[in-house]
Amino acid sequence: MSSGGARELAAVALPGREGVWDVRLENGRVASVERSAAPPSGRLVLPAFHEPHTHGDRAFAPIPRVPRDLLDAIEMTEAMRATFSPEEVEERALELFRRAAAHGAVRMRTHVDHSPMDGGKRDRRAVRAAARRMGGELEVEIVAFATRELDPVERRNRDALAAALEDGADVLGAFVALNPDPAASLDALLDLARDTGAPVDVHLDEHCDPDASWLEHLADATRARGLEGRVTAGHCCALAMLPRVRARRVVEKVSDAGITIVVLPALNLYLQGRGNGTPRVRGLTLVHELVADGAPVRFGSDNVRDAFYPYGDADPLEAAWLAGVAAQLDDPSALLAGVCGGRRGVEPGDPAELVVVPADSLQDALARRPGPRQVVRG
Ligand SMILES: [Zn+2]
Repeated sequence: MSSGGARELAAVALPGREGVWDVRLENGRVASVERSAAPPSGRLVLPAFHEPHTHGDRAFAPIPRVPRDLLDAIEMTEAMRATFSPEEVEERALELFRRAAAHGAVRMRTHVDHSPMDGGKRDRRAVRAAARRMGGELEVEIVAFATRELDPVERRNRDALAAALEDGADVLGAFVALNPDPAASLDALLDLARDTGAPVDVHLDEHCDPDASWLEHLADATRARGLEGRVTAGHCCALAMLPRVRARRVVEKVSDAGITIVVLPALNLYLQGRGNGTPRVRGLTLVHELVADGAPVRFGSDNVRDAFYPYGDADPLEAAWLAGVAAQLDDPSALLAGVCGGRRGVEPGDPAELVVVPADSLQDALARRPGPRQVVRG
């Protein structure tokens, strides 16, 4: 399989290509992709996964009961946070990281609550310690996630967020919907991003109320500050509830501002429209329209077995499959890009950062999400 500095993945299936292929890796790159004379090995090679949105500080935290809705889950988490020890936060984050890596993830962005308790210090340090224990297996990016208790409008909260960037956080985040003036909160966060140079990743419009959508404001405010390409927004459920003409305008503005939209299908299906029998509203953002307009669209796992969601395993293939089903997105290339940091295939010159899945095709992999999987670095 390998000789010298080179390595070959023989007789494999590849996304977007018919037939059987030999993939040769050399010097950290895909050196060649050639038709194979061998029979199919039953292995599929994909770009290694990038998990764009998790919550490592509270994954697997035991909960007293299932949540009634999003607000109930937030309140349950606020009450539970004080009972966590740094050791258990670190061990649970490590469990999340190990599972994601076993599924083929090489990068993960995780939000860590930036709470009034200690500015998120305890949990951020615990999650960072867990990330260090992964060695080079998983690159972890930490978002200092300003909860509703820490509105960035207030100077001291912005100072605390800036301090978090000096203490293990890489990205500025917030949940603004419950703040007195969400637009002002977004403006304050983006001002801080401009001043510090840190990227932004907000939980936005995680509800289905068209009269409380802040995505258009985020796009305008991003462009006004020249922050194109540095802002990410998760959820954006309310976009799907806007009147058609306004929705079209917002999608175009999002694309123009280079805002990455992270769709969290499991969480939206589980929490949106919840509370009174079978939900009529399913809560997914306008996935098709954003993809068609060229906006970067990613699919994430979000919460794993905590107060917000009792299932999940940080498997990017599951997020892609759920997006395919829930958004009826039948474009394998868009599904793959959504969990591979924008990569859509395996081509010569690409980084040799790949995952081998025991499957006959991408369709087969999405249908079964099989393992064991092996990450290959050339
Ligand atoms: Zn989240």
